[in-house]
Amino acid sequence: MKNALGLVLLALATVAFSAHSAEVNVYSARKEALIKPVLDTFSEQTGIKVNLITGNADALISRIASEGKFSPADVLITTDVGRLHRAKSQDLLQSVTSNELSQHVPARLRDADNQWFALTKRARTIMYSKDRVSAEELSDMESLTDEKWKGRICIRSSSNIYNQSMVAALIEQLGEQATLAWAKGLVKNFARPPKGGDRDQIKAVAAGQCDIAIANTYYLAGMLTDSDPSQVKAAEAVAVFWPNQENRGVHVNISGAGVARHAPNKDAAVRLLEYMLTAEAQAWYAEHNGEYPVREGVEQSPVLVQFGDFKAEDIPLQRVGQLNAEALVLMDKAGWK
Ligand code: FE
Repeated sequence: MKNALGLVLLALATVAFSAHSAEVNVYSARKEALIKPVLDTFSEQTGIKVNLITGNADALISRIASEGKFSPADVLITTDVGRLHRAKSQDLLQSVTSNELSQHVPARLRDADNQWFALTKRARTIMYSKDRVSAEELSDMESLTDEKWKGRICIRSSSNIYNQSMVAALIEQLGEQATLAWAKGLVKNFARPPKGGDRDQIKAVAAGQCDIAIANTYYLAGMLTDSDPSQVKAAEAVAVFWPNQENRGVHVNISGAGVARHAPNKDAAVRLLEYMLTAEAQAWYAEHNGEYPVREGVEQSPVLVQFGDFKAEDIPLQRVGQLNAEALVLMDKAGWK
């Protein structure tokens, strides 16, 4: 009897312990509304509690670095391979062995040491004024340096990591000299000194301040589905063009995640990443962020389908992360503010 009671108490203690230990601390650079529902579903299905901290990507990376080995961070979720690579090079992530992750994330969309994995894809492309430009006038990104585009192109600043990654991808594919010449030519055709975010470039096209913008398609998708009619109206004045379809394809970046170097709950962290790659999570997460799923066979949201299919770059994104610093120096040389 005494023994049986002991066993019951032990069992209860084990349950209490595992309930206590079943949690995972997520540092996310994505807005709470765009990630929390998918984390809640993970908790419901696994019983693992998710403690979510959201913030600016660079601030979260600095925070993990300064917390050092006492950091409670288990998972870092952020956008752009430039930032994932930065976290890796600061020794803030660890390698993860997972058949699920290797199976569902193509090799070029994850780190060679499996320290980060893509969760979604994001296309950075040309958007043009339906009134003042016709698709026949457009071809490759290279042709944006033509004289005819003088004073007609809007793009954000070189301090923006999306542009740094786009230029890094060009360095990888065209070489440094050709990319520098291209950047100089593009800067010459700017309609104005770079300012604002991607949405602002799209709005500037709609407002007639420029005829072409370079932006990520989820911004246009977000405007088209915005509850504010003025956003929808601006977005409807603009069309998507897919450049470089006969050669290297469109620049595609990622949002992604990695397990923190000193993760106190590593197993739960890996389970969370695996959950993020399930068909269910991929569909929700990609749709609500206006991005493309990474896992094969998951449908794109209707708003992205209307932009059409396209050929994407197929370089390993790790190279894009590695070339970030070089890209920034090159943009500076080109006079890209
Ligand atoms: Fe963005």
